[in-house]
Amino acid sequence: MQRVLWTVILTGIAGWAAGCGSVQGLLGRPEVEKPLMTGGETRFLEDASGRWGVHDVNRPAPPVVTPFTQAGKAPSDAIVLFNGTDLSQWTNPSGGPAKWVVKADYMEAVRDSGPIKTKQRFGSCQLHVEFATPARVQGRGQGRGNSGVFLQDNYEIQVLDSYDNATYPDGQCAALYGRSVPLVNVCAKPGEWQSYDIIFHRPLFDGDRVTRKATFTVLQNGVLVQDHVVLSGGTGWRGSSAISNYEAHEDKLPISLQDHGNPLRYRNIWVRELKD
Ligand code: MG
Repeated sequence: MQRVLWTVILTGIAGWAAGCGSVQGLLGRPEVEKPLMTGGETRFLEDASGRWGVHDVNRPAPPVVTPFTQAGKAPSDAIVLFNGTDLSQWTNPSGGPAKWVVKADYMEAVRDSGPIKTKQRFGSCQLHVEFATPARVQGRGQGRGNSGVFLQDNYEIQVLDSYDNATYPDGQCAALYGRSVPLVNVCAKPGEWQSYDIIFHRPLFDGDRVTRKATFTVLQNGVLVQDHVVLSGGTGWRGSSAISNYEAHEDKLPISLQDHGNPLRYRNIWVRELKD
């Protein structure tokens, strides 16, 4: 009865409050906000959760997630893959212990130890990775600060020291290797921490045939570098001017980090699984 009374009162207040923001904001009661009806027909929209009138208060609200507010923290609904303490979430290529080393709050690639892979497998996902290329600059082109973030163990977002280091553009830092040049070069200086925020939708296969190609949206250091790019094929290296095609694979595969012989550092890695 009390709730009905509140609803009646708030409906009146809502009319008065038009243009003043939400009733929730006025009274701190999140369940009572109603659309400010001014007559006219109700329009309906459909999504995966059903058919809803515009501004329908019964439409399912999204879950509440605590954001990350400082370096080293993950959102509350993320799977933390590396928090600076150990490599327990990772393996070497044969499934044994990962051979990279943990120092302070980061891990570092060890030359000739091979890539490391997550024990858990993922399909479509949002991935956050922080990395630093070596502060001591050595080599040039692809030989300077090379590593890579592989989604589904197949599709490489290049990691490279591309700060004042020319190479072929489809292989510079933040390129989808051999496929897509980043929109800008927003690389920090060698040794400085950088970030990738990656939104990846996996490819779908019907037998050996790809029926939906993968898409990538990537922000490097908060700047858009790959804008919902449809990956036209694989990113594998097949020679100096060859590229690989899609090869059908499982729905979920590890995320992997490349050992390209340079002591790349990684920290604060977390992932959120996405619907396909
Ligand atoms: Mg690489």
